Amino acid sequence: MRGSPLRILVVGAGIAGLSVARALRLAGFRPDVTDKAPSNELDDGGLYLPGNAARALQRLDLDGPVRPFGQVIHRQRFLDAAGLPLCEVDLDALWAGVGECRALSRCDLHRVLLSGAGGAVRHGAEVCSIDLLPTSVGVTFVDGTWSEYDLVIGADGPRSSIRALAALGGPPRPAGQVVYRSIVRDGPAVDEWTALLGQRSGFLVVPIGAGRLHCYADEAGTEVPADPRARLVELFGDYGGPVPEVLDALDQVHVSTTDEVELGRWYRGRVLLVGDAAHATAPTLSQGAAMALEDAVVLAESLHAANSVEAALTAYESRRRPRTRWVRDRTRDRNRTRDVPPALRDPLLRGRGDRIFGEHYRLLLGPL
Ligand SMILES: Cc1cc2nc3c(=O)[nH]c(=O)nc-3n(C[C@H](O)[C@H](O)[C@H](O)COP(=O)(O)OP(=O)(O)OC[C@H]3O[C@@H](n4cnc5c(N)ncnc54)[C@H](O)[C@@H]3O)c2cc1C
Repeated sequence: MRGSPLRILVVGAGIAGLSVARALRLAGFRPDVTDKAPSNELDDGGLYLPGNAARALQRLDLDGPVRPFGQVIHRQRFLDAAGLPLCEVDLDALWAGVGECRALSRCDLHRVLLSGAGGAVRHGAEVCSIDLLPTSVGVTFVDGTWSEYDLVIGADGPRSSIRALAALGGPPRPAGQVVYRSIVRDGPAVDEWTALLGQRSGFLVVPIGAGRLHCYADEAGTEVPADPRARLVELFGDYGGPVPEVLDALDQVHVSTTDEVELGRWYRGRVLLVGDAAHATAPTLSQGAAMALEDAVVLAESLHAANSVEAALTAYESRRRPRTRWVRDRTRDRNRTRDVPPALRDPLLRGRGDRIFGEHYRLLLGPL
């Protein structure tokens, strides 16, 4: 279907929507992209991208533009709560032949994706209803305008309204974690991905270049605290390693709960879900962006190769299911290990933590 004049609407200009728009443009389509946010609100957060994200960026011809940003990460260091070593994963060896692991600011990735998508996002354009027609979709926006498309792609995140409007699923399920993130500018020197594992909580610090650290912490639970900074000090105040200095340097802390989305199907008629709208998980394995980027590559390839939109959507879903299911299942596995008391868990991780953690990415090392 390459270059066919398909009218495509991408709803959502996050990592998934912009990646899909980029991939579709490379395949000869000219999608419209809308986002309900009134303007390009760039998220001042950090992001760790494992090697399969780099491979997908390369397929989108965006690895060059991303490379000046952030920092290549060579090792994952796992420490106990006191800061004593548990194990290390050699990322260069694990992802050899796939791609470099990188940590960078979300803003920088967003800018690269936005420019790769052609830069034209219609902001403030929230979809309020859709009509599933036999071979198209009628879309009504909140400003009352109506348009008809041959394909609508819901890339509108874990709380997707396209998912609800197309009767593909309801609200996400709480994944059972409260997550905190912050950028630290005058913190300690940390040169690699470093996680301290406590019981039912953990604290991660990753350098993202220009002397900045991306801090991510989580605890089991579903209630967001009123003062997230105070809660971090309460939870991690007695941790060792770089944590005390990071806590001292913390400024603004974002807090949220995590969502999980598990659907029986990802498309109905000419409406398809991608990214977190289709398969959100807790961010424990840092695979959300990589899965969105891979979705984009595979969707464009499926549309390019198929004779009809229906055949493309079927092919797309059957290729993407195994990898997103793997991420969800391994995320759940890893989250369950948090319930194991450190006295039992830590000797195991000292013995073979590198193999246990490396194994969580095994399927993702293989081809898309
Ligand atoms: C604390 C935390 C840390 C994380 N860390 C990492 C990490 O290190 N590495 C990693 O890979 N992943 C990480 N993730 C996961 C990652 O952020 C997500 O998987 C990824 O951002 C999903 O992108 P998306 O485009 O599918 O959804 P979103 O980023 O949610 O984007 C959805 C877009 O759709 C728009 N929208 C919503 N509703 C509508 C509507 N009705 N009409 C029009 N537009 C709409 C929104 O404004 C938004 O721009 C983390 C997540 C969290 C919560």
